[in-house]
Amino acid sequence: MTQLTDKSALVCGASQGIGRACAIELARRGASVTVAARNENRLREVVASLDTTAGQKHGHLVVDYTQPTALRSLVQAHIESVGRVHILINNTGGPPAGPVFDAGIEQFALAFSNHLLCNQLLTQLVVPGMKAANFGRIINIISTSVITPIRGLGVSNTVRGAVANWSKTLAGELAPHGITVNSVLPGFTETDRLQAIFKNKAAKTGQDIQDVERQALGTIPAGRLGKPEEIANVVGFLASPAAAYVTGVNLPVDGGRTAVQ
Ligand code: NAD
Repeated sequence: MTQLTDKSALVCGASQGIGRACAIELARRGASVTVAARNENRLREVVASLDTTAGQKHGHLVVDYTQPTALRSLVQAHIESVGRVHILINNTGGPPAGPVFDAGIEQFALAFSNHLLCNQLLTQLVVPGMKAANFGRIINIISTSVITPIRGLGVSNTVRGAVANWSKTLAGELAPHGITVNSVLPGFTETDRLQAIFKNKAAKTGQDIQDVERQALGTIPAGRLGKPEEIANVVGFLASPAAAYVTGVNLPVDGGRTAVQ
């Protein structure tokens, strides 16, 4: 598992959940990983947990996606200090739940900025170094709502579709430079985000949280929730040299939920 020993990765939204699992997996494969999110203490804990047996050098960046100008300066300075980023994991917290009809335009604008504009600005920063290395991996953590919108996640469903088509368009433009761009679509995955969604649904419908979870499990052929590591395993493969000919895909990792309804 040392295919990434000479590679540097920037993993966003990595203080917990899927992003954290991706950081662990990329480090396990030998990459030097910088984890980014808002909570410095949690980031330090993640860094301390990453594999260093192949001489990897890990670090953290405190960033807030709601402040894109500061995000750009911090990541620019990071790239100058590490040389280049070969692997970018675009990931941040999902927009709040709610019906699309009730959403204010400011909610759409914020979600569009957090999910699409921040991905775009980070990509513009890392791609020159990737081109020079003739190697790059841009992997976006989106959602199965790209395939079928999820009831009650109005703003999220809308913005995820935009990110998926942005990603495919970019894949076509960057392929000649040895840079792949792919999106991973997690199904119901055991993280704080999922617990918050279940809790919100329980409060809105008057059900208890166990019933909400049982209903969700009933839609998953595998009969269980996914684990963050199972998303990260797929990200690790897409980041590896072995996946050089895979680009522009939306890959569900969902226990079969979107394969059959
Ligand atoms: P999570 O909420 O557990 O973690 C999100 C991460 O993003 C955290 O590290 C958090 O600190 C960071 N973050 C949030 N807001 C930020 C901001 N403004 N600036 C910088 N960092 C910020 O989420 P997760 O379950 O790990 O999911 C990751 C992504 O995958 C989310 O977009 C989520 O909606 C999506 N997703 C999750 C599931 C699931 O079941 N967990 C399913 C489909 C899609």
